[in-house]
Amino acid sequence: MKLSIIVPCYNEEQTLQNFFDAINAQMCSNTIDYEIIFINDGSKDNSLNIMKQLATDYTYVRYISFSRNFGKEAGMLAGISYAQGDNVIIMDADLQHPPHLIPEMLQLANDGFDQVIAKRNRTGEGVLRTGLTRIYYKVINSLVDVKLVDGVGDFRLLSRKAVDSLLKLKEYNRFSKGLFSWIGFNEAVIEYDNVTRQDGNSKWSFKSLINYGIDGVISFNNKPLRLAIYLGLLVTLVDVLYVIYMFIRITLYGIDVPGYFTTIAAILLIGGLQLFFMGVIGEYIGRIYYEVKQRPHYIISEKSDNE
Ligand code: UDP
Ligand code: MG
Repeated sequence: MKLSIIVPCYNEEQTLQNFFDAINAQMCSNTIDYEIIFINDGSKDNSLNIMKQLATDYTYVRYISFSRNFGKEAGMLAGISYAQGDNVIIMDADLQHPPHLIPEMLQLANDGFDQVIAKRNRTGEGVLRTGLTRIYYKVINSLVDVKLVDGVGDFRLLSRKAVDSLLKLKEYNRFSKGLFSWIGFNEAVIEYDNVTRQDGNSKWSFKSLINYGIDGVISFNNKPLRLAIYLGLLVTLVDVLYVIYMFIRITLYGIDVPGYFTTIAAILLIGGLQLFFMGVIGEYIGRIYYEVKQRPHYIISEKSDNE
């Protein structure tokens, strides 16, 4: 049995060595064979050199370096594609994912769970952020078909079966939280206390979080476009009722402002129909657009020699 630990890194020079030491300290009490794969996601600092040094010094360390920043999703995908282990654990480099959970995760994997999820609670986080996150999950869960749980991130163990299933999902716009849930399999959940980042900065700005949210909705289904369809239908229906009402009124009492009725009726009717059909067309175009480009998810500029 072999374990692959996958670590996407973007400007993590301050934390990489600490991370590596923490993993080793954890793993030395374990007899299991393991490898660590660092993915350098276009870091602008010294991260790549640190990885290279570790890979030269330790045979069980490998690295993949991207030609630019492709995002954590691409990093994770590269990691699971290159992982050789029977189990794979995805971890952040900043030690916010506590290594002391690894033995328990492995234990659960041995018990036959294909996904062991580490779920973080929200101790020590700001009220505003906690609140916003809660709203975010409410909204997003009402929009997507898969179930997304607060505190469940990318820190998890995946069995070989789960990894191979994930690799079959070739979509360009990857939203891992959704993909993990989509592939299914039996899951075990471990809870841990939230850890704040020790060194370096979080790479998530408020804007990127919002974009991530939009990605989550758009890449998982076509409900937003459906909404356009329903809205269009609603407007059309309201207009039809309005036309009937005005028609009866005019027949009984005559016209008060000449031309007004027909103009409004036509604008509303056509507007509604337009929204409706834009939704239908958009539904098809949206699906085709991302997939048809068939771009690779990332470009590798260099990787460790032992490939
Ligand atoms: N990360 C990455 N590419 C990016 C942004 C982040 O590989 O474009 C990595 C980062 O180095 C870290 C992990 O993803 O190992 C989580 O990032 P971060 O700690 O900034 O996110 P947060 O914990 O604040 O959600
Ligand atoms: Mg972090």
